[in-house]
Amino acid sequence: MVQPEPGRTSLARAAALVAGARRGVAFTGAGISQESGIQTYRGQGGLWNTTSPRTSSIDFFLADPAAYWEVARERGTTLLAARPNAAHQALVELERRGNLAAVVTQNVDGLHLIAGSAAVIELHGNGREVVCLDCGNREPRSQVQGRLPEELPPRCPRCGGIHLKPAAVFFGEAMPVEATSRAFDLAGECDLMLVVGSSLAVYPAAQVPLVAHDAGAPLIILNAEPTPFDDLATVVLRGRAGELLPELTRAAAAAGGGS
Ligand code: NAD
Ligand code: ZN
Repeated sequence: MVQPEPGRTSLARAAALVAGARRGVAFTGAGISQESGIQTYRGQGGLWNTTSPRTSSIDFFLADPAAYWEVARERGTTLLAARPNAAHQALVELERRGNLAAVVTQNVDGLHLIAGSAAVIELHGNGREVVCLDCGNREPRSQVQGRLPEELPPRCPRCGGIHLKPAAVFFGEAMPVEATSRAFDLAGECDLMLVVGSSLAVYPAAQVPLVAHDAGAPLIILNAEPTPFDDLATVVLRGRAGELLPELTRAAAAAGGGS
């Protein structure tokens, strides 16, 4: 039987890497928000087990905005009610201590910003805002959600158009250019890549940790289930982000890194 490399699942080893980092990057996915009550896409309990990914595609939205909002209504309510959990808070602490330069997230829930992380790069936008594709007007998602009971599809308060879309990147849409290039720059220059709660299955976002690895940064993968990049990681921590990330942060502080 092949024995795992010593320390590959060690919290202490991960903590030493975190404590020594001065420009680390956290790369987060839906799993970090699972304990805030937001459903992941893939994995156990994931949305795609019961709903077609097509409902989050730009073609589905454009073909029938009313049908889109019928599906998105409940998800929007959950999104707006979600609060940051202990994992989001732990990343705020690691930034404050000087170990993390930025959080690069695939999430559209805005929870890193609400938690108080200062440097957040949202690769897939932010679903707490809604944009009118006809006139460019932006308004809070809560306002649009509030109109849904009387108005389906919701109409733009400025131009009356029906193409009101959450400011999140849908399947079939391009990633935001500036955020994407900033994420890859940070990955290429980081001294630690800390992946939290991502299946690492969605491209090009999943390329971000690969770029860091190829540039020589150690990789820590904290996830509930195996990922395709586990073999590349220096340490793999298997479990819940809301439990493991605060533990890791405490252990890193005890190891003496940061301020
Ligand atoms: P994903 O659903 O593909 O994978 C989530 C991973 O998190 C799974 O591997 C799962 O095992 C793991 N996980 C579940 N609960 C966890 C927990 N409590 N602690 C640690 N790990 C846990 O999500 P992804 O990798 O972010 O996929 C990318 C796509 O998902 C993006 O397009 C992103 O925009 C979208 N997405 C975002 C949100 C959000 O904003 N919170 C929610 C669903 C999907
Ligand atoms: Zn408009």
